[in-house]
Amino acid sequence: MTKSFSNDEIDNNFLWGYNKNGFCVITNFSSFQRLFVYMKPYRLKIVMATLCAILQNVFDVFPEVLIGITIDVLVNKQNSFLGNWGIVNVISQLCVLAGLIFVIWCFQALFEYLSDVLWRNLAQIVQHDLRIDAYSHMQQLEMAYFEDKNTGELLTVLNEDVNQLEIFFDKGITDFIYFVVSVSLVGYIFFYLSPLIALCVFLPVPIIFLVAYVFQNRLGQLYAHVREKAGILGARLGNNLIGISTIKSYAMEDYELDRLRKDSNEYKNAYERSIGTSAAFIPIIRMTIAFGFVITIILGGWYALKGKLAIGSYSVLVSMTQRLLWPFIYLAKSMDVYKRSMACADRVFAVLDTPIGIKDGAVAASVDVKGKIEFKDISFAYPSGVQIFDNLSISVEPGQTVGVVGSTGSGKTTLIKLLLRFYDPEQGSILLDGIYTKDLTLRLLRQAFGFVSQDVFLFKGTIRENIAYGTDNITDEQIEYAARMAEIHDFIINLPDGYETIVGERGQKLSGGQRQRISIARAIVNKPPILIFDEATSSVDNETELSIQRSLEKIAKNHTVFVIAHRLSTIRHADNIFVLHKGVVVENGKHDDLVSLNGVYAKLWRVQTGEKQ
Ligand code: ATP
Ligand code: MG
Repeated sequence: MTKSFSNDEIDNNFLWGYNKNGFCVITNFSSFQRLFVYMKPYRLKIVMATLCAILQNVFDVFPEVLIGITIDVLVNKQNSFLGNWGIVNVISQLCVLAGLIFVIWCFQALFEYLSDVLWRNLAQIVQHDLRIDAYSHMQQLEMAYFEDKNTGELLTVLNEDVNQLEIFFDKGITDFIYFVVSVSLVGYIFFYLSPLIALCVFLPVPIIFLVAYVFQNRLGQLYAHVREKAGILGARLGNNLIGISTIKSYAMEDYELDRLRKDSNEYKNAYERSIGTSAAFIPIIRMTIAFGFVITIILGGWYALKGKLAIGSYSVLVSMTQRLLWPFIYLAKSMDVYKRSMACADRVFAVLDTPIGIKDGAVAASVDVKGKIEFKDISFAYPSGVQIFDNLSISVEPGQTVGVVGSTGSGKTTLIKLLLRFYDPEQGSILLDGIYTKDLTLRLLRQAFGFVSQDVFLFKGTIRENIAYGTDNITDEQIEYAARMAEIHDFIINLPDGYETIVGERGQKLSGGQRQRISIARAIVNKPPILIFDEATSSVDNETELSIQRSLEKIAKNHTVFVIAHRLSTIRHADNIFVLHKGVVVENGKHDDLVSLNGVYAKLWRVQTGEKQ
């Protein structure tokens, strides 16, 4: 779920708006403002962290003032500033000053520690919230989004881009606070001691701001480019690691290494360009600072010689010029960090701004699903592809076992994707027990199905976890029963760790047929009202398939079952068989009727049984 705000928060917060789908988004505001919305719930922590950062910087300025007073002690002895306060002995005056400096540094160290801990913790909290929101939102996006994007690229956004935000809190904000506090405090001391010198020292400040403005615009573009290249590199890495067995089997290691080198080089070059600009920023500001320093030395020295400025004050001013202008370097650093982290934040917020295409219906009540399914005049084309269905209508009665056959690419899997609302048809409607599937919550709809997909996916974990996936409070007996039905129980118990065996990422440690059977067990364990098997037994031998079929026939009695199969023997006993050809149902009926019809199905059957055509 995307970060939810109370109505009050939404009303009070002008940053939030709603897009045309009613989805709560922040529009037309920079990622910076949006990050602050994320920080809003932690106001107290922010106030504390800011306070500690301010105090740390205040304590950091004082030793220099005390050094000025020390020089005053050495020059004026009993008549010094402290002497006037009643501490006549010079050694006592020095001891008091040393003690004060020590205490102040202790406080400075304490507040530096607190500020560091608080800001960095805050960074982790905001990163955590943002990561969870971005992932949660991403999970709700329709399949078309994931087909367009690359896993590695999305991973870079959720992981790298979110993690990079840490520098914004850790460095960006604290450097900016240092800049504000130091410039205000030291500026005040300057104006107090010598308004004319203060004015002269401030002369380069407008130039500094101008340079900062020009640089930050340029850095923004450069860092956006870096992040884009990071996404491409992440995509390549992700893709190659997933496809490592194909790379190895085609001996394409060198080729892939070259491709990765090219992407990595582009990332490196993009980063180098940003480093060039970012690194030039600080020296340019340093040069401008030097100008202010020269003015203080000459003008202050001349005033001191003429007796218009005390030597102690002059020494304070000289060391303070650095103090006054140095923070502008931190302003530059903070701007650099700001631009770098906002380039990352932009990408995270772009995910959060992606509208959800497949929206939840309102009917959430747990109804007793009977399993009647109707496809009514549906037309559908993939966003990038050709028309798959044009006015297709199919009706399935509760408890029926339905076979769907057809040549490869005829739209069988697409039909199931529409039923499960991975996609919505452009026209027409799909009904479950007479209710439009669009009106049901996605959770309710999808929980009505047990789906064995053509591309079986197992999670890294134990066999037990994989079978129980998606079900609550499932007992060991139920898991074992489902495994027996899927003809996999005997195999599992013969493994050294039995049901606790780890299957590896994507179930890599199992054979294709074993993976399929575990996914059959997963689909049936909760006894959902409708079962869908998309080429579910394509990788198992004929004998095992027959056993699975016999088991499933028992289960099928009270269920609606869709069986998609190329091997026609699998669907031979179905109550109704739909023959799809290029997205159109060309024939339907029982096996024997279709064979005697002598059409497409009969031809397929003859091919598979080896009969002469
Ligand atoms: P098979 O028997 O090989 O599994 P199928 O009947 O299940 O085939 P579908 O997966 O439904 O076929 O695909 C139907 C058509 O839609 C194919 O031509 C395929 O190329 C196309 N297609 C499938 N998925 C997408 C997608 N995500 N984007 C664009 N086109 C797609
Ligand atoms: Mg398919």
